[in-house]
Amino acid sequence: MGWFSWGKKEKNQEAPAKEDLWTQCTACKAMLFKEEWHKKWKVCPVCGFHDKLAARERINLLVDPKSFYEFDARITISDPLKFTDDKGSYAEKAQQACDKTGLREAVVTGRGKLHGLRIVLAVMDFNFMGGSLGSGTGEKIFRATEFARKKRMPLIIASASGGARMHEGIVSLMQMAKTSAALARLHEAGIPFISLLTNPTTGGVSASYAMLGDLNIAEPGALVGFAGRRVIEQTIKQKLPDEFQTAEYVREHGFIDLVIPRKDLRDTLHKLIQYSMNTKVD
Ligand SMILES: [Zn+2]
Repeated sequence: MGWFSWGKKEKNQEAPAKEDLWTQCTACKAMLFKEEWHKKWKVCPVCGFHDKLAARERINLLVDPKSFYEFDARITISDPLKFTDDKGSYAEKAQQACDKTGLREAVVTGRGKLHGLRIVLAVMDFNFMGGSLGSGTGEKIFRATEFARKKRMPLIIASASGGARMHEGIVSLMQMAKTSAALARLHEAGIPFISLLTNPTTGGVSASYAMLGDLNIAEPGALVGFAGRRVIEQTIKQKLPDEFQTAEYVREHGFIDLVIPRKDLRDTLHKLIQYSMNTKVD
């Protein structure tokens, strides 16, 4: 009996295909051993390119193991305009995004611990409809911000977004005001909010909560801006510098405070929150 099962097991343990073991850096095209690349949180060891993290991956990066408790996981998209274009309906696209990511909205919110420090966290996922800001996204961020205010816990929002979700029209744009108002109340209550801008943070998200942090921090090389390069070049009829809208460029020009490599994020955020909460720093 056992022999048959052994044989079957051996068959299942065939070496993984080459494409399962290796991946290619999007920026420098170097071939990278996938396991090592994942261990470095998707940062290329050759050129330092910070690839996009899914929301769950970033939560694992930022909070202590098993400390994350998710909020409002059932909130999903609403389709007030019953929007359809020649590529299909918004409802179909949203369903595809849900199936692809295992999420119901473009943000995951919850509470957790960072080196033992209690925090509220909202992490956007670019894989969900380009991290667009829909009414469900805005509602989740609003609720997380309110929770942080009521419980007096620091808030971190990690943005990754192409901007407002145009399928929801004005309802989407209203989320900019709604989240900003909640953050203003958080500020009045004296609770720190750190905004983390990851690649890319643009459009209505950069024009609202992503730039409202007590500290605005970006990852190296992240695209940070409002309108895209092509739109601006066509408007002002000038060529823009190559590094335009990179995290480093916007820091030099005073739009953000710090650029922190992913490997240092956890420790840096921990220190900054401790400073801002007026507690002892080791
Ligand atoms: Zn690279």
